[in-house]
This record gives sequence, structure tokens and C-alpha cells, in this order.
Amino acid sequence: MKLPSVIAIDGPAAAGKTTLAMRLADHLDYLYFDTGVMYRAATLAALRRDLDIDDETTIVDLVFTLDIDVRSPDSDSDGPMVVLLDGEDVSAELRSREVDQNVSKTAAYQQVRAQMVDRQRIIGLRSPVVMVGRDIGTVVLPDADLKLYVVASVEERARRRHTELLRKGRSDSYESVLEAMIRRDKIDAEREHGPMRAAENARVVDTTGLSADQVFEIAVQHVMDASQPEVENGS
Ligand code: C5P
Repeated sequence: MKLPSVIAIDGPAAAGKTTLAMRLADHLDYLYFDTGVMYRAATLAALRRDLDIDDETTIVDLVFTLDIDVRSPDSDSDGPMVVLLDGEDVSAELRSREVDQNVSKTAAYQQVRAQMVDRQRIIGLRSPVVMVGRDIGTVVLPDADLKLYVVASVEERARRRHTELLRKGRSDSYESVLEAMIRRDKIDAEREHGPMRAAENARVVDTTGLSADQVFEIAVQHVMDASQPEVENGS
């Protein structure tokens, strides 16, 4: 069997994309690449410089100057990917409330997206990959061998994100997490360039009420279904 070597996973925040993608990448020995970190790194750079995120020209100009790269973690890293912003490891700072609140604005700018998509294609085509985002199956890798669109009810997603934040020592209320999530979904789904949506040939995986193991099993089944028989070589 020839397994799909480019797997695109899209869907809204906290639907379970990351957990699934990391497990699949580990299982298949593929590169795991979460593209959201690139938009987060650009947003962090703007916040550090005290720039106005609503000012498109300023943000686009900034992004042109940034060197954003990712690499696989080593034994000292505590995340699934190391993100380098101009050579500095910023992985831990990318999940702050400020970045959460502003990242969708940065990600809506056409020229920001164009630059990120180019970089993502270069990184993604280096090796077999499980690439995660909002527009991977539609824009970044439209020829992906397998496209999964992972969804869950917004209440369940907010509950998951809330639990994760509490575990990290943050004290956000459930309501504020839910509200922020609805706002971010809306911007991501309604933006003009690269909006979050399922590709026509994506397989939808609804994770509401499912355990990570169950979601993984469903995805593995999709991987098997998308596999091609090896072509016999010879006469
Ligand atoms: O996946 P994550 O929540 O880290 O993504 C952060 C934000 O980055 C998303 O809300 C979205 O605005 C943006 N994003 C995007 N396209 C991607 C990945 C992320 O617009 N491929």
C-alpha cells in the first residue's frame, strides 16, 4: 500500500487538530507542521514592537522583514515544534492571551497570507508531512493526498481550551474563552483571503464527544481509505 504522503488537516480552534496531527505524524513518521505558529510569530513580533495590528501596511511591511522558521523539537523542548523568530526560540510566548486576541487580524491580511503560504509550501514539501491550519486543503496544498476537516461544537471547543488554560495557570472564565473563540472563528471564516473552510474533497471528522483515541482511529481509517495499491513493476 502507498500511504498518502501529504496530509492536510484544517478546522477551527480547539477542534482537536493538533492532538490528532501530532499522533498521526508520530505514527506515520512524518513531519508535523502547525502553520498557525507562523501567524502567531508575526503577531508576537508586532506586539513586541508596539505596532498597531489594525494598520495593514505596517503589519505587512513588518512581516516582509521577519525570519520565521520551525524545526522539530529536541529533548529540551517542551512543545511539539520549535518556532524561531529571527533566530530566537519564541515557542513559549506564542500562546499568550494577547497573541490569541490579535492573531486573526494579522492572518486576515492578503500579503501576510501570501508570504506565509509560500513559506509553508517550501517547508511542507521537504518531506512527508501532516500540515495543520485553516486553509491547507484549499490554498496551501490543494493537491494533498488526504484532507481532513476537524470540527466540534463551539461549546466543547471552548471547554477544552478553558481546561487547557486553567492547567497552564491562567484564570480566564469559560465565558470569556467562549466569546473569544466565537470572535476568532468569525474572522477566520469570513475573511476574504484564505478563509477557514473545508475543501470540497475533505473528509469531515466531528470530534464532539469523542476521545483522542477514537478520533485517531477514525483518522487512521481515512488514511487507509486514501492509500493506493502499489503499482506492480515488471512485465
Ligand atoms: O491554529 P491556531 O489557533 O494556532 O491559529 C491561530 C490563528 O492563525 C487562527 O485563528 C487563524 O487566524 C490563523 N491561521 C490561519 N491560517 C492557517 C493557520 C492559522 O489563518 N493556516
